[in-house]
Amino acid sequence: QIYALRSTSWYSTATEPSSQHRKPRRVPILIGGRFIESQSSQSIDVINPATQEVVSQLPLTTNEEFKAAVSAAKHAFALWRSTPITTRQRIMLKLQELIRRDMDKLAMNITTEQGKTLKDAQGDVFRGLEVVEHACGMATLQMGEFVSNVSSGIDSYSIREPLGVCAGICPFNFPAMIPLWMFPIAVTCGNTFILKPSEKDPGASVMLAELAMEAGLPDGVLNIVHGTHDVVNAICDDDDIRAISFVGSNTAGMHIYARASVKGKRVQSNMGAKNHAIVMPDANMDATINALVAAGFGAAGQRCMALSTVVFVGQSKIWENKLVERANSLKVNAGTEPDADLGPVISKQAKDRICGLIQNGVEAGARPLIDGRNTVVPRYEHGNFIGPTILSDVTTDMECYKEEIFGPVLLCMQADSLEEAINIVNRNKYGNGASIFTSSGAAARKFQTDIEAGQVGINVPIPVPLPFFSFTGSKASFAGDLNFYGKAGVQFYTQIKTVTQQWKDLPSGVSLAMPTSQ
Ligand code: NAD
Repeated sequence: QIYALRSTSWYSTATEPSSQHRKPRRVPILIGGRFIESQSSQSIDVINPATQEVVSQLPLTTNEEFKAAVSAAKHAFALWRSTPITTRQRIMLKLQELIRRDMDKLAMNITTEQGKTLKDAQGDVFRGLEVVEHACGMATLQMGEFVSNVSSGIDSYSIREPLGVCAGICPFNFPAMIPLWMFPIAVTCGNTFILKPSEKDPGASVMLAELAMEAGLPDGVLNIVHGTHDVVNAICDDDDIRAISFVGSNTAGMHIYARASVKGKRVQSNMGAKNHAIVMPDANMDATINALVAAGFGAAGQRCMALSTVVFVGQSKIWENKLVERANSLKVNAGTEPDADLGPVISKQAKDRICGLIQNGVEAGARPLIDGRNTVVPRYEHGNFIGPTILSDVTTDMECYKEEIFGPVLLCMQADSLEEAINIVNRNKYGNGASIFTSSGAAARKFQTDIEAGQVGINVPIPVPLPFFSFTGSKASFAGDLNFYGKAGVQFYTQIKTVTQQWKDLPSGVSLAMPTSQ
């Protein structure tokens, strides 16, 4: 069943209040410019984490449908790669306008499927929108290089060409931002794309694809498939797919990296995190506490850039008391409620896992300063809520420290010196981001130099870099060598071709010696 894009687009009815009383919609796939209902007999329910209502059903794309999506992308590549770069940019200019127009609808879908607050969901869309804006300048970003007269009458130049069919595999925590880290850069470089959204919240990807089509993206340039392991493995194995962008957990990321690399594909794999903040005794107390609370509990801790561990250098008691005071003032509620500071976590399984790690920490000797496990939200009693939780006296051998918790849990540790604090951070296997709060330039500079993390914050919690830089996780948080967006993102989605040309009266005679420029 194919639906006409404009008249009955999938999302225009999917988020209407009355849709709760209808049979859940089946999320379409997108193949060759057509939104199609899958023929699959297997599906996954997309569940509203605040209410447990089934928002939609996600049929698992069949192998035939997957092959058809790749074939559509391969077919579209021939024309798309030769479409002028200015035309491709203009489609992105239109897309950013349409995303702004539909910002509220996108945010409502994200809150319904993912649970984060509406304001946070708008931020999710906005941070992706910035990447679309960045893609509008692709002609400059994709420019090659030229050196004239490398030898007498000979010039050399390099061209950045698209790779062909690329694919993106997304996590649940940023349903708009992360697909927008991927396909706008890939397609504006001239590639075609297969997007595999998270099975937990696929709606935003479908909505964004509808907007991309409305903006003028030709049929087959962007395709969407759905599912879990099977479709991911099919992406890794398919000979026509040249590169894979992945964001998610280490288990999936390393599997995909290994499986796709063996097939000769490029892979950029952004994975888990355990982001630390070091707080020096001279840090501004009010601003630092605000930053720790926002970055620890925002999005219920389900951000790869969440600050999940604080290392206080020197006395921690006064800091911890203030943290508790501020965290206690946060309101836990469904993301659609205007007073909500943090919403539910994504699933019952995620809630059980997070509560288990908190319990494990307590049993190992950590002190709960606030314990949000028994939080019940009136009118949303079935929601997967966990209130802000702060564990003190945490040590590096505890499971809650070693594992990524990915929930609203802040771990507090102590160190006697900056040196000791940096050592704690550097011994952790993850290297996504780390921050320092201090009023000492010398301490900040030492931290910046010695810390082993991809993203460094100085008096700011770890920010997702703006798209003219790249998202630069390191150690176990990243596999690959070209990061997402920024200059590296363009390099990832393009292949260099180096051309040497000679335009002169050609010399006579044959020389078999190695040509040199002397
Ligand atoms: P996840 O790994 O469970 O799922 C991510 C994607 O991989 C999904 O599309 C899923 O269908 C697929 N998948 C899951 N397990 C798989 C397997 N064994 N084989 C093949 N495919 C598989 O991750 P998630 O729970 O959706 O997202 C949370 C994780 O993502 C956290 O670890 C978080 O730190 C990480 N994350 C990292 C960044 C970053 O930039 N470093 C950004 C956002 C999220």
